[in-house]
Amino acid sequence: MSSIAISPGHFGVGSGARDIIDEVTEARKVVDRVAYLLQQEGITVHKIVDDRSKKQSDNLNYLIREHNSKNRKLDVSIHFNSSGKRTDQPLGTEVLYLNDSLQAFAARMSQAIAKASGLKNRGAKKRSELAFLKGTNQPAVLIEVCFVNSVQDVKIYQSKFNEICEAIAKECIAYVAPNPANKESDLENVEGEIQKTLPSVGTKGEFTSPELKKRLDAILKDQKMIEAIVRKGIDEQAIHGVWLEKLRDGTLSSADLLGISTLIIEHQIKNAGKK
Ligand SMILES: [Zn+2]
Repeated sequence: MSSIAISPGHFGVGSGARDIIDEVTEARKVVDRVAYLLQQEGITVHKIVDDRSKKQSDNLNYLIREHNSKNRKLDVSIHFNSSGKRTDQPLGTEVLYLNDSLQAFAARMSQAIAKASGLKNRGAKKRSELAFLKGTNQPAVLIEVCFVNSVQDVKIYQSKFNEICEAIAKECIAYVAPNPANKESDLENVEGEIQKTLPSVGTKGEFTSPELKKRLDAILKDQKMIEAIVRKGIDEQAIHGVWLEKLRDGTLSSADLLGISTLIIEHQIKNAGKK
C-alpha cells in the first residue's frame, strides 16, 4: 500500500508568513489539490490540517503527533517562504530535508516544481533544527513553494498553481510507488500474471513464503536496485536496452521485472555452461 501523510504548515490563517498572499491559506490550497491528485493515482492520502492549535508549539506537536499516528511511507509539509520586505526579485522554491537519504528526493522535488512553473530553483536544503523534520519518524520533506513577499514568485505561483501541484504529486508518487505501472498491490499483480502465463509452475501463481514476498516487495520499492538489475541485464546482453526506457517511462511492470530477472539468470547459466 502506497500512502502519504501531508499537511499545510502552521494553524489558523495569518499564523504563518504573510505579505502579498497568506502562507496558511495557500498551503491549504496546495495540500487539497496535491491530496486530490495523489488519490486519483491510487495513493492513500492522510491529510492533516490543524484547526485547533492556538500557538506554534502546540501546532508543531499536533502535526508531528498526527503524522506519526498514520501508516505512511512519506511525510510532506507544505509551506511558503518569506524574506521580509516585499521585493520584485524572483526568489523561488526550495525543499528542506534533514536525513541525508532524502537529499536526492528533495533536489528532484525542487527541480520538478521549478521546471513545471518557472519558479527559480533554490534546490534541496538540509535543515537540522526544524521540529517537523526532526519529529516525524518516516522520510520527510518540507516544501517551501515560493516566497509570499516576492511579486514575481506570487505571480508565477498563481498562474501555475496546477502545474506546481502536479509536479509535487508526481514526485511524491515516484518516491512511494517508484514504478507507476504497479503502484498498488505489486505482488498480487505478479501472482496474477504468473498464473496466467506460467501455468506449469505449480498450480497457482501464489507466493508460498511470506518472507520471500516481503523481500521482493522491498526490492520493488527500490528504484535504484530495479535500475541496477535492468542495467546488469543490458550490460550482460541478456536483455534488450528497451527495458531501461520502459523503466524510465514508468511502463515496466513487476511481472516484466520478474521476467527480466529470469532471463538474466538463464543467460548466466547458459554462459557458465559454455566455459
Ligand atoms: Zn511556514
